[in-house]
Order: sequence, then structure tokens, then C-alpha cells
Amino acid sequence: MSYDAIKETLLHPFTLFFDPSQRLSILYLFTALIVALAVYRVRTGSFKGLVAWLLPKEVLLHPSSKADYVMFFINKSVVAAIYASIIIQSQFWFDLVTNWLGKPETVEASLGVTILTTILVAMALDAALWFGHYLFHKVPFLWEFHKVHHSAEVMTPLTAARMHPFEEVIESIMGGIAVGVTAALIDQAFGQGAVMLNIFGINVVLALFFVAAFNLRHSHVWVRYPVWLQHIFVCPAQHQIHHSKARQHWDKNMGFIFGLWDWAAGTLYAPRGYEKLEYGLGNGEDGTWNSATTLYFRPFLNAYRLFASGWRNAFFNPEKSATHEGPKQEDPQGEQNPAV
Ligand SMILES: [Zn+2]
Ligand SMILES: [Zn+2]
Repeated sequence: MSYDAIKETLLHPFTLFFDPSQRLSILYLFTALIVALAVYRVRTGSFKGLVAWLLPKEVLLHPSSKADYVMFFINKSVVAAIYASIIIQSQFWFDLVTNWLGKPETVEASLGVTILTTILVAMALDAALWFGHYLFHKVPFLWEFHKVHHSAEVMTPLTAARMHPFEEVIESIMGGIAVGVTAALIDQAFGQGAVMLNIFGINVVLALFFVAAFNLRHSHVWVRYPVWLQHIFVCPAQHQIHHSKARQHWDKNMGFIFGLWDWAAGTLYAPRGYEKLEYGLGNGEDGTWNSATTLYFRPFLNAYRLFASGWRNAFFNPEKSATHEGPKQEDPQGEQNPAV
């Protein structure tokens, strides 16, 4: 690895803020800030006390946030550099399908086809991410990795990077397959030539979604869409519900952009008004996940234990609604899960 490559890798956690293809870019943080300011002004009628409300010390200096900062740095530097080189991109799947079905004729794509392509590719990506997220909630050994994200007890936009690299790799591969295959099938249907509308190097639907105060989903700022709209698009409040400790919120709202998949699967939880939430796992493990070694290595250990206790336990959870509980034999109090 050259000196320049090492420098680029180590600086990436800082340079990414200036790259609008990244969800944490200052552009999207800025739009989130504007919405947060509007929320505060509407609620209180002034800007007095704004800074203490927006940047509470108890959130920013919480052990959970400090763990986020460490994980953000490691994930966005070393881990990002490693998996950028191993992830098979959507182009691979596109070429695979195109070679299999035959190269379609090149045509001049109409605006309608271009817009359709843009929306369908965004929907395919989102459906794949939803399904990946769903599996990470429902398959016990995968849940051990996803616990990393749910172990956040307070949230800032950097909590988005509190994600185990194993999960990021699996979900990136799923997203790559969905985008590549969908783009290839669209070409088969309409002829080669339809291009996706991109801005800043990402699908315009994704960019618009990031602009729409995306970063507030990992924060304490409650922004809720009307209930009907929550069935179509996921609002920040819905993702905060997803992070709630409360049992009635477990395994709900796994959508990234669209609420449609949760709606169809019966996992949508559309809050009708403000709900006071506490973030975390709610399974007795809160507060034990805030060191870097725990966040990176405990999931492997827990998954290994599950496999060692029998592959069925690793893949299937008989207690479908209580994935958060983890395996029964590890329950320290030996409590029975109350029926939900
Ligand atoms: Zn989250
Ligand atoms: Zn989740």
C-alpha cells in the first residue's frame, strides 16, 4: 500500500463529509439541521436554549456516542478500504444477466423510461436493503451482528456508522445484486440506452431522500410524517421507533427509504403522535456494548455459541417476536418471555 493510499484511507472519515454521495455529507447534515431548527422554533416559539437542546452534552459525551465515534473512524477508514476492494459491484451482476439473456438493442431512451429506470433501481436497492435488514433481525446468528447497531443508547448522525462490517458487507452484496439485475432487466425490456438519473454520483431518489432530513433518524429530534405518508416513505421518527427499547417497537420499521415493504410484511409501525422513546436493546445487555473490542468481536463469539448449540438455534428463532431476547439459555434471570 502506497503512502498516498494509506493517507487517503486514514483521512476518509474526514473527507467523506465533503462528498455528497455519502449520507453523512455536510449537505445532508445541513438540511437535517434546518429541519431541526424549524422543529425547535415551532415547538418553543423562540431559539432560546437551542444549542443545549440540539447538542446535549449527555448525548455527545455518552459512552454510547464515544463508541460510535471510534466505530465511525475504524469503519470509514480501514474497514471501508478493505471492503471497497472485495465487494462485487452491481456492474458484475448487470454483465452476468446481460451475457445470459443476450445484449439488447441500443435505443434512444425516452424521458419516461429514464424516470422509470431511476425509480425502479432505487426501489430494487431499497427492497434488497429491507430484506437484508429483516434477515438480520429474524435470523438469530445474524441478529448477533445487528445488535451492534441497536446497542446505541443515544443517537447522533454518526450512529449510522455503528454497524458491524459483516452486516455491511452482506447488505452491500444484496444491494449490488438487486441494482445490477434490475438494471439489466430494464435494458431487456426497453432496450439498452436507458440511464439512471444521477446526482453527485448517486441515484437521484437516494439523494432526495438524504436531503429530506435523513440524518435526523439517528438523533433525538422527532420528525414524523402524516400516517398515510409513513406507509410510503420512512420518516426519522419511524427509524427512532426501530431503535426503541420498548417491546411493542421491536422488529418494526426495517425500511430504509420506502415504508412499502414494512407495510406489505406487516412490520410497519406508523406513530400517530409523539412517543417518548428510550434507545437500546432492552434485553438487559444495554451498557455492555460500548467498547470497540466488544462491538467488533462479541458478535462472532455469540454467533459461534449459537452454532455450537446446534445449527437450528443459529438459523431459526422459535420465539418469532422476541429476537431481541437472544438465545434462551443465556437469559441470566431465566425469565419467561411474557406473551406479546
Ligand atoms: Zn439505525
Ligand atoms: Zn435493525
